[in-house]
Amino acid sequence: MVLCINLSPGVKTVTHSDYEIASVKAAGAELRYRGEAKLDAVDARIAEVESTLVFLLHQRREIVNQYDLNKPAVCHHVPDQYEDGVLFCIDCGVRV
Ligand SMILES: [Zn+2]
Repeated sequence: MVLCINLSPGVKTVTHSDYEIASVKAAGAELRYRGEAKLDAVDARIAEVESTLVFLLHQRREIVNQYDLNKPAVCHHVPDQYEDGVLFCIDCGVRV
């Protein structure tokens, strides 16, 4: 860590107090630098995940369109289930 101590004009020596103040400022700057670096890493990861999400949503739309999954499934009713003498489709439960 490099300390930059600004001396008043005409002052040639560094006092203990000057050194302490400079040390505290440098430590604060170091902490801020570390925090900003961590924030940059998280922001980069968020950007990656967002990009992946956009890609997957596009893939999802393609699959829905390719297999017509946005339309209700067509049942070829298999009338095999009786309830009170009425036939119901064994696959979808619709009365047939
Ligand atoms: Zn059916």
